[in-house]
Amino acid sequence: MRRIYFDHGVTTPVHPLVAEEMYRCLKDNFGNPSSLHHFGNRARKAVEEAREKVAAAIGANPPEIVFTSGGTEANNMAIHGIAYTNQHRGNHIITTAVEHHSVINTVKALGKQGFTVTILPVDSYGMVRPEDVARAITDRTILISIIHANNEIGTVNPVAEIGRIAREKGVYFHTDACQSFGRLRVNVEELNVDLLTISGHKIHGPKGVGALYLRKGVRWRQTLFHGGAQERLRRAGTENVPGIVGLGKAAELAVSDLEARAAQLARVRDYAIKRILGSFKHVRLTGHPTARLPNHASFCFDFVEGESMLLSLDLKGIATSSGSACTSGSLEPSHVLLAIGLPPEVAHGSLCLTFGPENTEADVDYFVEVMGPILERLRAISPLDEETAYADRNECLSCRAADICRHH
Ligand SMILES: *Cc1c(COP(=O)(O)O)cnc(C)c1O
Repeated sequence: MRRIYFDHGVTTPVHPLVAEEMYRCLKDNFGNPSSLHHFGNRARKAVEEAREKVAAAIGANPPEIVFTSGGTEANNMAIHGIAYTNQHRGNHIITTAVEHHSVINTVKALGKQGFTVTILPVDSYGMVRPEDVARAITDRTILISIIHANNEIGTVNPVAEIGRIAREKGVYFHTDACQSFGRLRVNVEELNVDLLTISGHKIHGPKGVGALYLRKGVRWRQTLFHGGAQERLRRAGTENVPGIVGLGKAAELAVSDLEARAAQLARVRDYAIKRILGSFKHVRLTGHPTARLPNHASFCFDFVEGESMLLSLDLKGIATSSGSACTSGSLEPSHVLLAIGLPPEVAHGSLCLTFGPENTEADVDYFVEVMGPILERLRAISPLDEETAYADRNECLSCRAADICRHH
């Protein structure tokens, strides 16, 4: 069967050059970087070379990079570390309603431990308004954490501008760049950030490894693990040497020829958006029409369940995502789609296509071809339909919250 992978926002295939370096490392470089002998030194060297590559890819200095077990740990570490180290200055944390769970749940947990939390709303594109951030800052604010590019709707936030505001007010600023790194230019100076998260498996690297950028001089200490002195006392535990080597290589590849790769992804994305909005009824684009990830096309289809679409598409060989965090396992409508103002029944019909370098316009044509009959079948058995939607609500579901309606 023809197999098409349209789920690169959730994870990416490992680049062959990354796999090769990791294999070499696993095979020939087994030492513990903490050991002082030859074997340890070789492993230490591999880790430090990877650190240089990651630092170079985001415009940082190597000592500012801390390797972690992934984006989730880096986000937890960033937020916990700043919160507990700066309690004497204040207890107020600002974040948004469209963060990844590893940020929003961490901030909410701190809210139960004596910290005061502001969760900012977003506009109907899922974008944070810098003026809302400025207004929310108080004398007690110690941290702002705002996602760079959203994993569910692709919207890119004005992070550089928010960073400028945070700096003016002397508040630490963290951004989750797991989605943007390798797809947009991510530079810690241009973005005015103090802390920044990346993840290996979103950039054609391995799973279970990521990094936190920690600007020199930021008052932060490690709060998650008790243990050894690895990573300059910032992350205890023997380093995941092959994973770190893979992350280093993936980071190097992620920024080489970035503009050309992003332009190719954007061509497939724009073709998909045009074909899908032009081919089906009662479908809307979610997220910002232009300020969005170059590989991201996300939609809500009315009168149909996202999960049913996903499973039907999978039977035809096409891998997509739906709903919460573009991950399954939750029947709750996505917090991101609710935050952009979609009613729950519309949010349930979400479908997210995220492209990679191997995807082509022909793949999109195949998607459109198989999606037609799937939609028809699922809508025929749906308890919701056009008639009841109009009668119950006295308004068109497609227009209600939509910024783009092609039907009326
Ligand atoms: C994938 C992702 C994470 C989590 O990274 P893991 O390495 O899977 O733990 C965090 N934030 C965003 C925006 C992501 O896309």
